[in-house]
Amino acid sequence: MSDHALGQDESLLIRAARDFSRAELLDRDRQWDRGVGSVTDVLPQLSEMGLLALMTPEEVDGLGCSYRTYSAILQEIAYASPSTAVTISVHNMVGLVVDRFADPSLRRSWLELWGDAKNFGAFAISEANAGSDPGASLTKADRNGDNFILSGEKMWITNGLTARWFVTLARTLPGEGKAGLSLLMVDGDSNGIDRAPIHGKMGIRGSETAVIAFDGVVVPTTHLLGEEGAGLSASLAALDGGRIGIAAQAAGIAQACLDEMISYAHEREQFGTKIAGFPAIQQMIADSHVELAAAKELIDFAAWSKDMCHDDRSASSKAKLYATEAANRIAYRAVQLHGGMGYVNECRVEQLFRDARITTIYEGTSEIQRVVIARELLKNN
Ligand SMILES: Cc1cc2nc3c(=O)[nH]c(=O)nc-3n(C[C@H](O)[C@H](O)[C@H](O)COP(=O)(O)OP(=O)(O)OC[C@H]3O[C@@H](n4cnc5c(N)ncnc54)[C@H](O)[C@@H]3O)c2cc1C
Repeated sequence: MSDHALGQDESLLIRAARDFSRAELLDRDRQWDRGVGSVTDVLPQLSEMGLLALMTPEEVDGLGCSYRTYSAILQEIAYASPSTAVTISVHNMVGLVVDRFADPSLRRSWLELWGDAKNFGAFAISEANAGSDPGASLTKADRNGDNFILSGEKMWITNGLTARWFVTLARTLPGEGKAGLSLLMVDGDSNGIDRAPIHGKMGIRGSETAVIAFDGVVVPTTHLLGEEGAGLSASLAALDGGRIGIAAQAAGIAQACLDEMISYAHEREQFGTKIAGFPAIQQMIADSHVELAAAKELIDFAAWSKDMCHDDRSASSKAKLYATEAANRIAYRAVQLHGGMGYVNECRVEQLFRDARITTIYEGTSEIQRVVIARELLKNN
């Protein structure tokens, strides 16, 4: 992976993530895909490596990584385990929401927990009828003295089976659309929470995906994250950073596909020669290499923009749109280049092809990224 112009400490961290994920995650990820275990089996190791507190400030024992370092680390993790990459990406995104929006009286105590495997986080925005349009959320939280009483059902929640903390979008004030929606930090140990796994996913099978039902859950009003009624804009701000994580996940998958392509092209012979010698095979490899390089540049630029605090929301949308669609094209070619072997699970590209598919869907579909990009362009020109 490219880590040019990063400092020595950052490069060492990226290298450590690479070594760890290839040694400890790759084989497990293949097992998780076959239904044996899940990423939660390795949460203590992820915690030990600091991967659960990558972007948590150093003052509260986090690694305090920049977005550039964070995205390079996620690419390394995704190379070996796309399921672990999304798990870490969501947990770290929730940590950033806490850092930015939590009540000052609670912020530090929550952040101090963030690197601990028992304090795993989830981001609960989507509902059955509110996906691309989270303003249609029906989950509500009625005020009762110093508490909110939360009821409703969230769907598709990554980390949802094990999470201790749910950053949850709910309507706390009367209104429609985004009006009245607020973000709440919900303690998963509270009474009235039911978690059910979503089975039968096409890919990233090692990552937890759940339906979370809230039935009269008591949430202290101090657990409001940001201004009451400003929950949708806070969620979108969080997703803006989260999209860099998903773009990085896609780039890691694409790099793994490309490496598998090159290795198989050198190994496989047809017509008495290595298939690497065929121009059609070379074209697949060359196109994949160039598209991946472009994706990495867009990710690095989006990450740098965030590190520089530039107000450029379309940078992460561009990175996510391009990297995730490129990863799907590259995974398609990887299967094609492997011929029949690419179609069976024994060969890793079969899994990578399925794992890549989700990246154009979650944290905003490609169509929604195009809406964001076009809106910015039209607004500014
Ligand atoms: C494995 C997995 C993990 C997930 N993890 C989480 C999570 O942790 N937390 C969470 O809150 N959510 C999560 N999600 C939900 C995910 O973010 C949504 O699935 C996604 O935003 C799309 O919403 P939807 O599925 O309701 O599709 P819809 O919004 O119903 O979209 C259907 C189609 O319509 C298109 N479309 C919709 N609106 C427009 C528009 N304005 N213009 C053009 N096209 C449009 C979409 O692009 C799509 O092609 C996860 C989903 C999956 C599958």
